[in-house]
Amino acid sequence: MKKIIMLKYAELSTKKDNIGMFLKTLKQNIDNKIGSVATIHFDKGRMFIEASEENYSNVLDILKKTFGIHEIIIGYELLNNEISLVEENLLAIIKDKHFSTFKVETKRSYKNYPLTSLEISRYLGGIILKNKEGVKVDVHDPEVTFYIEIRSDHAYIYFEKIKGLGGYPVGTLGKGLLMLSGGIDSPVSGYLAMKRGVKLEAIYFESPPHTSIEAKEKVLSLANIISNYGMPIKVHIINFTKIQEEIYKNIPHEYLITIMRRMMYRISAKIAYRNNCKILVNGESIGQVASQTLSSMAAINEVIKMPVIRPVACFDKLEIISLAKKIGTYETSILPYEDCCTIFVPDHPVINPLKEKCEEYEKLIPYEDLIKEAIINETTIIKEEKKEFLDLL
Ligand code: ATP
Ligand code: MG
Repeated sequence: MKKIIMLKYAELSTKKDNIGMFLKTLKQNIDNKIGSVATIHFDKGRMFIEASEENYSNVLDILKKTFGIHEIIIGYELLNNEISLVEENLLAIIKDKHFSTFKVETKRSYKNYPLTSLEISRYLGGIILKNKEGVKVDVHDPEVTFYIEIRSDHAYIYFEKIKGLGGYPVGTLGKGLLMLSGGIDSPVSGYLAMKRGVKLEAIYFESPPHTSIEAKEKVLSLANIISNYGMPIKVHIINFTKIQEEIYKNIPHEYLITIMRRMMYRISAKIAYRNNCKILVNGESIGQVASQTLSSMAAINEVIKMPVIRPVACFDKLEIISLAKKIGTYETSILPYEDCCTIFVPDHPVINPLKEKCEEYEKLIPYEDLIKEAIINETTIIKEEKKEFLDLL
């Protein structure tokens, strides 16, 4: 018998016409991460992955971080579907396995098989009872379920299932630009957008010397952490110093943040268009700060036409933190480096900014030229995919 990993697809069954593209992308995404250490083939129902024993846990770790997978099943493929062979291998499997209650569940896609599913389950259940001391059948809440699958030319036995991340394979829904700050919310938002199949590039606004190299490194680390769930993320770095200083010098302070964020949106949308990103993604959450009241969001959003997706808009901060911990960004996010938004914070930011006032104040600075200049001076960084696993081989 051959150990094999079987993947059940998440949500893909709804994508009737595009299913081929979804499956190819999923395979490609897995291939990119595990390279030559495993072989992958698939049909419309499932994907099958073979890896040698010493690579198993690494391959599993990668699969657990891949979107588009509903369930990861660790199973054994048998050379043929004869009941005597299933029995022999099942006995070998249970020999070293500790359990006190069990059941056997059979699926038979090969309908000409001489036994029905129920007959197979009953027969094999009897065999287990005879050969394993102290075990009992419990059909309602068994400690282990042995699943048997009978196909036309072979059979599978499995008993271990791991829940996958779900979602769509990254890249199947096109590309978005993530506004990535060093905070807790935006990396979580990036993760959630990737979960829906969106490939990401990121944009980061820095204000040297008011913000440090460490603050930038932190953002790049966050991009790197979330890229583990998809593919390497290109980060566009925008020098925002001049724009911020101009705003700070010339615009009434209660409108500093509103105008600053309007500038960020304008620049982000331009960078997105140029890089074929169809949406912006950010970490705004309704009501969290003055710039995230509904009036603020409206006054800021109105400067661009591009859709802005805010995956954590309706999450509580505690929910965002809990997800950040789960995906591994939290510890990096709470490192104490300043963000360009936090250094120019006024004492009393406006909560209900007016569009007309924004427009009036923006006339006080040559913002179109400043935006052009910031975009011309953009730099980009893409961190190579983590090769540690492959380097071990
Ligand atoms: P986060 O925890 O992600 O920093 P926040 O609660 O601090 O969010 P804000 O600082 O108001 O909220 O920013 C709201 C969103 O705007 C961020 O989640 C992020 O998407 C974007 N943003 C803020 N600062 C920057 C920046 N320096 N570069 C890129 N995007 C930014
Ligand atoms: Mg922030």
